[in-house]
Amino acid sequence: MALRDETSRQLLFRLRNAMAESGTIQDRMDLTTRLVAEGMGADVCSCYVLRHGDLLELYATFGLAPGAVHKTRLRMGEGLVGHVASSAQALRVRDVWSDPRFVYRPETGEDNISSFIGVPLVRGGHVIGVLAVQSQEPRSFTEIEQEVLETVAMVLAEILAQEAEIARAETSPLVGNAVLPMRQEGTALIRGIGLGTAVYHQPEVTVTTLVAENPEHEIERLKMALAEMQANLQTLFDAHANLPDEYRDIMETFQMFAEDAGWVSRIQEHIHAGLTAEAAVRKVDNDMRLRFSRVHDPYIRERLHDLKDLGNRLLRHLTGQSSTAAGQNLPDHVVLVCRTLGPAELLDYDTKRLRAVILEEGTVGMHAVIIARALDIPVIAQVPHLFEKIAPGDQVIVDADHSQIFVRPNDDVREAILDGLRQRRERLETYRQLRALPATTKDGTTVSLMVNAGLMMDMDCVRETGADGIGLFRTELAFMSASSLPDVEMQRGIYERALDHADGKPVVFRTLDVGGDKLLPYWDDLAEENPAMGWRSTRITLTRPAILRQQLRAMIRAARGRELNVLFPMIATIPEFRAARRILDLELEREASRGGRLPESLRVGSMVEVPSLLWQLPELLSENIDFLSVGSNDLLQFLFAADRCNPKVAERYDSLSAPFLRVLRDLVLACDRAGKQLSICGEMASRPLDAIALVALGFRSLSVTASSLGPVKEVLRAIDLDRARPFIQSLVDQPGPSHRTRIQAFAHDNRWISD
Ligand code: PEP
Ligand code: MG
Repeated sequence: MALRDETSRQLLFRLRNAMAESGTIQDRMDLTTRLVAEGMGADVCSCYVLRHGDLLELYATFGLAPGAVHKTRLRMGEGLVGHVASSAQALRVRDVWSDPRFVYRPETGEDNISSFIGVPLVRGGHVIGVLAVQSQEPRSFTEIEQEVLETVAMVLAEILAQEAEIARAETSPLVGNAVLPMRQEGTALIRGIGLGTAVYHQPEVTVTTLVAENPEHEIERLKMALAEMQANLQTLFDAHANLPDEYRDIMETFQMFAEDAGWVSRIQEHIHAGLTAEAAVRKVDNDMRLRFSRVHDPYIRERLHDLKDLGNRLLRHLTGQSSTAAGQNLPDHVVLVCRTLGPAELLDYDTKRLRAVILEEGTVGMHAVIIARALDIPVIAQVPHLFEKIAPGDQVIVDADHSQIFVRPNDDVREAILDGLRQRRERLETYRQLRALPATTKDGTTVSLMVNAGLMMDMDCVRETGADGIGLFRTELAFMSASSLPDVEMQRGIYERALDHADGKPVVFRTLDVGGDKLLPYWDDLAEENPAMGWRSTRITLTRPAILRQQLRAMIRAARGRELNVLFPMIATIPEFRAARRILDLELEREASRGGRLPESLRVGSMVEVPSLLWQLPELLSENIDFLSVGSNDLLQFLFAADRCNPKVAERYDSLSAPFLRVLRDLVLACDRAGKQLSICGEMASRPLDAIALVALGFRSLSVTASSLGPVKEVLRAIDLDRARPFIQSLVDQPGPSHRTRIQAFAHDNRWISD
């Protein structure tokens, strides 16, 4: 052991000095191969790097013919080097000539070689190259020598991969995870096409200091980081003590790894061999990931995720690096790769750079997805084993029009996709031409088409889309992207801008709707066990009326002399509506008594997103209320008891199913009877097929995401309501989990939609 540590440490020191020298990466790799050969008392050391496709290219050598550098290439599995790469395991061969896997390459001049040892260069669980040592004298390389070489390979792999990330451009000779191009399917949540460089939302920690002077110091650092991490995990477990068993299992596995003496002692061993604490954690992580990745048992593969998370967690404690990529230097075109994503986290990014988002989990009702839709960023979700398939720095095309992603695409694929993008632009041009035209059906019924907004960058959406106004202004988005609770003046500024930009068209301001998956970064007492049904939205603002009062004051001041539309979310009972309305009326009185100018007119509405309201419609509509707006996202989740953020259940229930269509029809009838306006602002209105059903059921006002306004208007202008109405009405009373396919076929046969 001591011998191994000594040899390893000496070699690593020399390597570190070589890497610190100026010169190109090529110069430094040439020097490295010489040092390794000398350190191992061997004649040859060569470094092969995996290039686009599955070719291992001789990148640097000491001892083979220099002319072979960048020329000799081996396929994965070809020759001893190819075998090391494809098996991702070390290989020791005493007599290469008698080994059937050996492939002789004359240009390398390896005629006199007898023995071979090769180890894979591994990064992030992927092989990125091979480090090979050869000797002329027959020799049996020892296990200790193999371990030394593996430690050196770990350091080299980090350096090469970091070099590739710096160079990142496609022209880089070293591609981060240069394996074969790959196509992968997922579920498209927001259509569109995006090309860019893969960035992990929760990036793997970069380990920059790899070789350590003082192992004792590193051991101390490791101990401290472990203690911090365990305290942290404990707090996390305590906060979730009542979780269901399956989550507890995951957490316990997590803790088990954290306390696993074997895991810790393996890290310590690598520190003694000369690595820094962080490099040692990375090395153990790489080894375990490789070992686990050969196992097909789904349970064990799941544990691999836990392990990756744990390694990364420990590395964060050691390096102090932040937990999301938002604050990092990002490429111009980013494809964000996430396990899951919160709405505030999405807003932390410079969203102009985001070309697409890929989620390992994720559903259409998640707020991050709703925000992505508002930003017109394509999203694909439910891509299994995402992190094994895409490495940071990979070029990725997200084709959410066809529910597919291409990782490291070849030129043909790229060309075909760019072609698709051109067609998409042409379609957008068609929608632009519809901008000034009304959403009037073939047989003359006009529907008011409004947009959903809330972000600063949405301010121009009415002008850009030609919408009839903003049907849902999600005020919480400004709260979520601020670093502290915005004061009255700040809010007034936002609401005033929204009204100014709407050019006299109505803007429906919804009061603060936080809670659920919409968390405020500066408000930690919102974390709840069952947040969708917990203390959220109007339930919060009625218990903390100062927040509501301030918000309403800001709205009143912003709308002075103009129409003010206020919408209260998550109303479940009549007294809740009354209480919220009363705060509004009092605030108006207060403003008047202060001598402030009031809005010219006022319209007040309630969201219908809690099913209890469906059985209180006559009472609600006889209140001092002007309109209802259906929040189909929440209404669907509560009606079917299916968490809108949980892919295992969210997609099981369809808005175009008999129960939901019946609810919508009854809402239309109740509002018609009471002479009150009805609108819908949930995501279903943004889907052209659903919009047909809504209008056929009697909805005359839809509020959709800006990017859907064109497609929805196009379809509404194509339909014949006299035909759509009886067909949809006939489905309302027919049971079945979903009428989507039938409605689709009907719309298709009538040529209202193409595919
Ligand atoms: C809804 O629930 O449908 C809705 C529009 O509100 P949000 O998506 O913001 O919860
Ligand atoms: Mg809602």
